[in-house]
Amino acid sequence: MRLSYAVHGAIWIAVYLLFILAPLFALLAGTWPPARDFWTEFAVALGYSGLAMMGLQIGLTARFRYVTKPWGEDVIYHFHRQISLVAAGLIVTHAVILTAGRPETLLPRNMLQAPWSAYFAIVSIVALIALVVAALWRVRLKISYETWHLSHIVLAVVAIAAGIAHMVGSGVYLVDPWKRALWIGLTIFWIGLLLYVRVVKPLFMLRRPYRVAEVRRERGDTSTLVMRPDGHPGFRFTPGQFGWLTLWGRPFKITGHPFSFSSSAEAADGRVEMTIRNLGDFTSAIHNVSEGQRVFLDGPYGAFTIGNPADMHVLIAGGIGVTPMMSMLRSLADRRDRRPVTLLYGSRDWDSITFREELEALQARLNLTVVHVLANPPDGWTGEQGFITADLFKRHLPPPYTSHEYFICGPNVMMDAIERALGSMRVPLSKYHSERYSFA
Ligand SMILES: Cc1cc2nc3c(=O)[nH]c(=O)nc-3n(C[C@H](O)[C@H](O)[C@H](O)COP(=O)(O)OP(=O)(O)OC[C@H]3O[C@@H](n4cnc5c(N)ncnc54)[C@H](O)[C@@H]3O)c2cc1C
Repeated sequence: MRLSYAVHGAIWIAVYLLFILAPLFALLAGTWPPARDFWTEFAVALGYSGLAMMGLQIGLTARFRYVTKPWGEDVIYHFHRQISLVAAGLIVTHAVILTAGRPETLLPRNMLQAPWSAYFAIVSIVALIALVVAALWRVRLKISYETWHLSHIVLAVVAIAAGIAHMVGSGVYLVDPWKRALWIGLTIFWIGLLLYVRVVKPLFMLRRPYRVAEVRRERGDTSTLVMRPDGHPGFRFTPGQFGWLTLWGRPFKITGHPFSFSSSAEAADGRVEMTIRNLGDFTSAIHNVSEGQRVFLDGPYGAFTIGNPADMHVLIAGGIGVTPMMSMLRSLADRRDRRPVTLLYGSRDWDSITFREELEALQARLNLTVVHVLANPPDGWTGEQGFITADLFKRHLPPPYTSHEYFICGPNVMMDAIERALGSMRVPLSKYHSERYSFA
């Protein structure tokens, strides 16, 4: 299983590199333009590579299940963020080197007489810089997620389209028709990816709607949506995976919200549940959802799944990070799986522990130990309190710690601390799996 994931992953990395490097190496074949100085040629190479990387970003966030499977969606989004910075860096460096070599081009008199391709370069770079600034400092700039997401797509399309126009206008390397054909092909591919994400995929979702069967209040300002497929069999998921939910309107809306499935993966009728904590505009409106309402689900996604049979599974949840764990536990119970499981579960206080009663009941059906860790324990509390630390692990888990399989989901600070604790206990990276609830 792991090996096939590794091979699968290696193939996609090779395809990715091919798409990035092939356009660059293709420039070196066929007819060459008259030689120019090293820095000009170097800057041009940076520009071509940066543009090829930018175009492929659309593919990275296109939610191709088959592509993201070996890594999980959060790793892909992290890669998208990092590699976009590299691409933007290459393009800006390309412009800086070219203008540093000819500073006179920046004089207002010369700028007015510049060829049209130079204007496209300016539009592309301004859009790119705005894109990076908004992505890095969205929260500090107080831009809502929805506004940011829409502007992100618009700015990316403008930056790439203007970049292509600039390349065609000043493309001394594109004299050969086949090189032009290569770039036209790439552009069509990028447009195809965009159409797939924004039109084809939503059309498929439109034909496979779900109906809300129940809205259940849970402890901790949280509600569970129970959804049934409407006129189709639904999809199968692996416990720990998540889907994108569109509650109001059609799936063509630009922003769906990601939520883990909290129900058992064994439901025969395609029913799925998502358990949602009130944390912002969208999540606070869950109680307005009515039974029978039509909703759309895009899924399943994610690699945060129990697959490897191990001696012992350790689930570490903070707050609403318990939802994928709940799906794992409910599925194990339905499968009558008796492997030992320990759930270390951090909550604010005793009353806000989501699924508290059901976890108690599950202990009778599973070989399950639940350790509650409370930030604000009630008077007389003798259980764990504060943060989940390496010492806490050692109190509740049998050694050797390196032979257990760990699953972590919760606030970023908690996850960072736990990953450090596991590192200090010499647990190898392959033994722990994380799901971060922040893609952006
Ligand atoms: C893989 C994954 C699984 C998740 N599972 C659950 C779950 O089971 N239960 C649960 O309560 N929450 C879950 N979340 C978090 C949930 O998606 C956000 O809390 C929710 O989208 C916030 O929306 P809002 O408009 O209410 O809040 P806002 O105040 O608008 O947003 C709060 C923060 O949530 C993030 N966010 C908002 N909208 C989106 C979006 N469309 N896509 C990605 N991130 C967004 C942003 O970082 C934002 O700053 C999960 C997140 C991820 C990435």
